[in-house]
Amino acid sequence: MGATVSQYRMQDPTKQYPGPEFGRQPQEAPGLAQAMSPKPDHGETSYQGFGRLKGRRALITGADSGIGRAVAIAFAREGADVALNYLPSEEQDARQVVGLIREAGQKAIALPGDIADEAFCRRLIDDSRAQLGGLDILVNVAGKQHFVEHIADLSTEQFEATFRTNVFAMFWLCKAALPHMPPGATIINTTSIQSYQPSPGLLDYASTKAAITAFTHALARQVIDRGIRVNGVAPGPVWTPLQPSGGQPQEKVEQFGSEVPMKRPGQPAELAPIYVVLASQESSFVTGEIYGVTGGNHLP
Ligand code: NAD
Ligand code: MG
Repeated sequence: MGATVSQYRMQDPTKQYPGPEFGRQPQEAPGLAQAMSPKPDHGETSYQGFGRLKGRRALITGADSGIGRAVAIAFAREGADVALNYLPSEEQDARQVVGLIREAGQKAIALPGDIADEAFCRRLIDDSRAQLGGLDILVNVAGKQHFVEHIADLSTEQFEATFRTNVFAMFWLCKAALPHMPPGATIINTTSIQSYQPSPGLLDYASTKAAITAFTHALARQVIDRGIRVNGVAPGPVWTPLQPSGGQPQEKVEQFGSEVPMKRPGQPAELAPIYVVLASQESSFVTGEIYGVTGGNHLP
């Protein structure tokens, strides 16, 4: 799909990418982008860099697939060196991203591991700094979403795992990174429309996203006196492995995107430019902000 779509040609955005109905396509979490149909567009064949992140050193979690992969491709083409985190089971997707970053002429440092573990998060920051020569941009994209219809069936184990992955890891990574970040550095967190308009079957997930939104607002105020900006991106439905691998029931995957005014899901490539602008000096007066990319279901 991505091969024929240009992000730069003026066109009707409602027709730019496919809408429902999609085929059922169950995968085990965390799933692979490679196994999706239609294939998501991460900007592989379309994203053009303009040198907006020249010389920057970035760590991106969840960089193997979906939104994180699109951000990694865009950052590299904008001139940044990139450390990528993902789960070891996603190596196949991650290898493709490493290849694309290197094709863009930038350093790609693969650092697989489970961010639900605090010690690993500290190591991830240390290894990124050591191998990139410093850290200017931290992008928290990794996330866990598992649909459960009734609270009676939502286990403590899942509730805790969702919070550890989505909220605790962001806290641990920000905490470890901040002492080493220079003025001009930026942190970008990934929240969701679910922070504002929670779906009943995403009780734990939506709660983590509200926590990410509040954390982003508070941390931004805390660190601006050091010249560090903190912002968030709140996507609506985006065509990524998160959804068919348990994020939604398969009947909702079939209709994915139908609930937004544009009547289609977004593609990861449509998120990346927002992360680029928030990471770059172009957004120098923007901090503590949450940027919606929702297909029309505006925030809050
Ligand atoms: P995705 O499945 O492509 O990316 C999520 C990534 O999280 C995975 O690739 C995996 O590498 C990582 N991850 C999960 N658990 C991890 C763990 N314990 N340790 C390390 N990494 C782990 O899906 P995506 O949709 O691109 O998700 C990216 C972010 O966007 C998530 O925070 C998600 O909540 C958010 N988001 C997605 C949508 C959507 O509709 N797809 C909507 C709003 C927000
Ligand atoms: Mg993945």
